[in-house]
Amino acid sequence: DLPLAELDPEIAAVLDDELARQRGTLEMIASENFVPRAVLQAQGSVLTNKYAEGYPGRRYYGGCEVVDVAESLAIERALAVFGGDYANVQPHSGAQANAAVLGALAEPGDTILGLSLAHGGHLTHGMRINFSGRLYRATAYGVDESSHRVEMDQVREAALRERPRVIIAGWSAYPRHLDFEAFRSIADEVGAALWTDMAHFAGLVAAGLHPSPVPASDIVSTTVHKTLGGPRSGMILSSRGEQWGKKINSNVFPGQQGGPLMHVIAAKATAMRIAGTEEFKDRQARTVEGAAILAQRLLADDVRAAGVQLVTGGTDVHLVLVDLRDSSLDGQQAEDLLHAAGITVNRNAVPFDPRPPRVTSGLRIGTPALATRGFGAEEFTEVADIIAAALVAGAAGTADDELLAGLRDRVRVLTDAFPLYPGLSQ
Ligand code: PLP
Repeated sequence: DLPLAELDPEIAAVLDDELARQRGTLEMIASENFVPRAVLQAQGSVLTNKYAEGYPGRRYYGGCEVVDVAESLAIERALAVFGGDYANVQPHSGAQANAAVLGALAEPGDTILGLSLAHGGHLTHGMRINFSGRLYRATAYGVDESSHRVEMDQVREAALRERPRVIIAGWSAYPRHLDFEAFRSIADEVGAALWTDMAHFAGLVAAGLHPSPVPASDIVSTTVHKTLGGPRSGMILSSRGEQWGKKINSNVFPGQQGGPLMHVIAAKATAMRIAGTEEFKDRQARTVEGAAILAQRLLADDVRAAGVQLVTGGTDVHLVLVDLRDSSLDGQQAEDLLHAAGITVNRNAVPFDPRPPRVTSGLRIGTPALATRGFGAEEFTEVADIIAAALVAGAAGTADDELLAGLRDRVRVLTDAFPLYPGLSQ
């Protein structure tokens, strides 16, 4: 029973190197976060040994009396955080949660209507080679050509045209709130069910900083690891449990999955406990504030002059979408440039993007992980200025080694001042 470093030095080195990378860089991928140590502990526990097919009190395996406690707590706490009268905490991931939701709401061949992938939707909302595009007749609404916002009259038009069985609200790359009541009334008008995928903004919803989709939607799915800051996994909620609960349960297990990951479910319970705290609310408030500070800096004249704009001209949430369509930098170059400065982001297509998906004309930059690290207005102001300096120099062709070394020094001051997982070694 050797420790990892002795049994498998190569993988131990991966863990060490990744911890060092996370500590030494500024993590600004909008879908990432740093879980608390308590979550690492629950997730790395002996609960991984337990098979527990079924649901608490109704398992197909013996010896589930202990893990039942974890799953019941996770459900109870998820409902306390988000409201509603039904929760399923078993999905291994966001994509699997979404597969179960569509299984509950539609039959193969039925029409679904979601935000176009090219305009910020998710793969599981109808992408051609995803299960959602293969099993269902996937149709899409887009954002408006000039405002770049989801305009509800256009969603309604698409719904009247396509007559979907399911309307999907939610996104992976969109910087504004959605109007869930308007989605509800369109769904009612065309006789569709409304599914909201709040994976990205669930943490903001939990903190009361974003409208909740739970009351208006038939079913809400989420990941637990983005703004919500828990273990990698998914979750399904409903305020209409009477109508959908049994169908969702059977579509998760046995529809999509076998044995639930009880170690992850325990970690979800812990994450839901944290999501009910004042510290969590404060962190989400700093997340939103950080994105607003970043937006403000990137809208300044020097950045605009470099051909850099923001999709929708700003943000209401935890991310900004940088629009490089008028810049000499493309998404790939901008991502590489920030990487060289010690900042991790991902390139992302922007609406009406002329560049191919592997290159793109955009960057998605998010603040959740840095807010978790402890950053507030002062630090986000400095981060925003580092990003602005990198983009301006990159567009001007002056981002040489010396400039990048200077930016990396500024990044190091921040990472040193906010140590990540102090004292942890893997
Ligand atoms: N739904 C949305 C809106 C997402 O952005 C994502 C993650 O990228 C998912 C679902 C899928 O989550 P996972 O990566 O856990 O399968």
